[in-house]
Amino acid sequence: MAKLTVSDLDLEGKKVLMRVDFNVPIKDGVIGDDNRIQAALPTIKFVLDHKGKAILFSHLGRIKKEEDKKGLSLRPVAERLSNLLNKPVTFVPVTEGKQLEDAINKLENGNVLLVENTRYEDVVNGEYVKRESGNDPKLGEYWASLGDEYINDAFGTAHRQHASNVGIAEAMHKSGKPVAAGFLMEKEIQFLGEAVNNPQRPFVAILGGAKVSDKIGVIDNLLSKADKIIIGGGMTYTFYAAKGIKIGDSLVEKDKIDVAKSILEKGGDKIVLPVDNIVAKSFNNDAEHKVVEGDIDDGWMALDIGPKSIDDFEKVLKDAKTVVWNGPMGVFEMSNFAQGTLKVGEFLGSLTDATTIVGGGDSTAAVKQLGVADKLTHISTGGGASLQYLEGKTLPGIAAIDNK
Ligand code: ADP
Ligand code: MG
Repeated sequence: MAKLTVSDLDLEGKKVLMRVDFNVPIKDGVIGDDNRIQAALPTIKFVLDHKGKAILFSHLGRIKKEEDKKGLSLRPVAERLSNLLNKPVTFVPVTEGKQLEDAINKLENGNVLLVENTRYEDVVNGEYVKRESGNDPKLGEYWASLGDEYINDAFGTAHRQHASNVGIAEAMHKSGKPVAAGFLMEKEIQFLGEAVNNPQRPFVAILGGAKVSDKIGVIDNLLSKADKIIIGGGMTYTFYAAKGIKIGDSLVEKDKIDVAKSILEKGGDKIVLPVDNIVAKSFNNDAEHKVVEGDIDDGWMALDIGPKSIDDFEKVLKDAKTVVWNGPMGVFEMSNFAQGTLKVGEFLGSLTDATTIVGGGDSTAAVKQLGVADKLTHISTGGGASLQYLEGKTLPGIAAIDNK
């Protein structure tokens, strides 16, 4: 069902509460990668251009004790945001009370204010009370009382039930105020939602990464939806073990061999496994390595898929209309074992007729690091959230947004 979005709202003169994802790396007050701030700009600018008063909320890091607060203030983010927007950003160093309320009342149309890290509410008077991350309904109600409309643009936290995404939305509902998705959220719902629930076919899923155990939910859900499932990465060798192929010293989850067997039975020829691998003497970029087909001898571990497998995968992918990719094909962090991930990424980039989607924290990092991200249709901004979406789960942050 389509969700209400920021473009459906009447913004002029409204106090627009916005949940964004400014959870950026900060060290000694200096912001590292500001991608997430950049990604939030379209929705913020839209609100400002339409003369709304933007009141921004975000969490940053994790706060379990009073001392954690010091290094996790959003103040540096306010400065960066101000540079990016080229206009002043009022930073309010508290998350509730008169100082915040006064600042909101003074805010003019088309101006923006950033509230301190919402997770400051997790520790009150030195006690770890988790008001924000435990979704204390009183906190959601309080924040909701500060505005006229609420926009959630933080897909990366949509799988969590926090006061600043779910509590506040529920309180807005109760008082008859609108709850809408921002553009970033809308895009994630559109691409991941369409791919999983209403894909253009053939629909091929590429699943890799470290462990079968992390991905059972994703495989289970996609088994009934995809036309083909390509498997690569570390989880391959648990499937090999299930098929009786020798795996040497490769990564394996012995307690998941039965699960792998039943996935193979259920999936039949829907499932495509690598036929060859790059095997190494140790888990090290400089380790002696070679390509082997089929059985892997003891003393060798598979760290990437081999060239024949890449060819096979390309044959399966070439006619695809929708591709969802989660999980690198090998240990892409080491240059000698990055080819599988790189080649698959490049091939996906060459598919001009297909919607190609990447989800998952390491997968996103991999396609960016390898320089193929720009050629793909959609790179999800949420690691855990995108995985839960691919598992077919209802994400509480999304469920709390009004339907149209
Ligand atoms: P995502 O975060 O995208 O869901 P995962 O966390 O499941 O992905 O997997 C990423 C990790 O899997 C990477 O750190 C990568 O090095 C590792 N990996 C991939 N292939 C292998 C392999 N053959 N052996 C060991 N680790 C692997
Ligand atoms: Mg990961």
